[in-house]
Order: sequence, then C-alpha cells, then structure tokens
Amino acid sequence: MRKPFVAGNWKMNKTVDQATLLVADMLPGLEAVKTVDRVVCPPATSLMVISGMLAGTEVGLGAQNLHWEESGAFTGELSPAMVKEFCQYVIIGHSERRAYFGDTDETVNKKTKAAFAIGLTPIVCVGETLAEYEAGKTGAVVERQVKEGLKDIDPKTAEKLIVAYEPIWAIGTGKAAGPEEANDVIGNVVRKNLAGMFGNDVAQMIRILYGGSVKSENAGEFFHQSDIDGGLVGGASLKAGDFVKIVEAAA
Ligand code: PEP
Repeated sequence: MRKPFVAGNWKMNKTVDQATLLVADMLPGLEAVKTVDRVVCPPATSLMVISGMLAGTEVGLGAQNLHWEESGAFTGELSPAMVKEFCQYVIIGHSERRAYFGDTDETVNKKTKAAFAIGLTPIVCVGETLAEYEAGKTGAVVERQVKEGLKDIDPKTAEKLIVAYEPIWAIGTGKAAGPEEANDVIGNVVRKNLAGMFGNDVAQMIRILYGGSVKSENAGEFFHQSDIDGGLVGGASLKAGDFVKIVEAAA
C-alpha cells in the first residue's frame, strides 16, 4: 500500500507575511489528516519562516527548484545544502521550469541525483504539451522524460522518489485531464517504465501524483484511480480551505 501524498506548489505567490498567514490557516486542517503525506512548497524567501512553523508537525516542506552544484558562481540559484537546511522535499523539472528556465531531461537528472545525495526527496515532474497530446505523442514524451530524467539512480534510492504526471495543457487552465486518461498514462507509461528501470517491486513503492487543475471538487475522482497516489496542486493550494479539502479527499 502506498501512502497518499499531496503537495501544494505555491509557485511565485505570497510574501513572507502572506505565506505565514496561509500556513497558519491551513495547518490545523493539514495536521488532522494523518494518513496522507502533506507538503507545502512556498517560494524560497519563505522557507526559513515556514520551516519554523512546521517544526514538530507532520507537515513537510518543499522547495520549488535547486541547482545540482554544491556552491559557486550560479547567481540566483539555491544549492542542495541550502534547500536541505529547511526542507525535506524539492520539486524538480516542473513544466514551467522546463518552458521558461531551460530545464531539460539532463538537468532534471542532475538535480534529482543531487537532491537524493543530500537527503532530499525529489518530486520529479513529467508531462506533455498540448501539441504533443493532440499528436498522440503523450506516451513517447513521458517515457523519454522518465527514462532520461531518472537514469542511473540506484533502485534502493528510487523507492523514495515521487513522480508527478502533469499534462501541461491541464496546468493552471482549469481543464483537468480525465481521471481514467491520467491513470492510464501513470500506470501504463510512468509506472511501467519505472518497473523496467528499477524492477517491479520498487515501481510499486514509488508514489506517482497527478497534477493539473486539481480542485476540491474533482480531487476525489483522481485519487480513486488505481495508479494515482495523490496530487501536485498549484492554484488550489493557495486557499487554505481548498487545499485541506484536497488532502482530505486523498485520505
Ligand atoms: C502545478 O503547478 O503543478 C499545477 C498542477 O498547477 P494547477 O493545479 O494550478 O493546474
């Protein structure tokens, strides 16, 4: 049995004061749902303050990106050790990073290895564009992202991996994928390739999330699917009541 997992990706939203209020608002509701691993991923400026608020709770903290090098001349970047000071998780290869900031399968692989090496749990994002979806290339694109992004990772380490399948056309558009359709990609492309790479036992342990316009109203339909182990939630994670309801749906 895989424990359900729900993470909120706040993207570039909330100042420290706003982030503090949002966490204070959602924390009691999140704390109450013990059967789900729940994580918030605020902007980097709020990680220190929020890590203090979450200390002693079971709610995890994640960053939205990291660099794979230990230190050096990489203006604007955060090293694995800097992220590890405050976080347990890190989102890697989100489609917005791939589209606007040059993340590739190769850098996703480097970041994933660097995250594991320092003891962070990576949440690795994969997903096809609308053009790829319409051209029937979903399977091929997602397979490539999984194989390249996660190559040369030790199977024992890979057990801890979290993968998020996020069709890009469903992110922030209000147009979620069909639950069965998402389950099909997650089971028959993502998990199947993970089994080929790490063995079936490991693939059965890896949590795979759906992301893309998950809301409190539709979350249950996704989480009932056999291969969907939870969600990576963008917009709806910025409202305390909505995010708590999504976590409750995962339970
Ligand atoms: C995301 O940013 O990972 C995401 C899924 O966003 P939204 O829920 O807003 O579609």
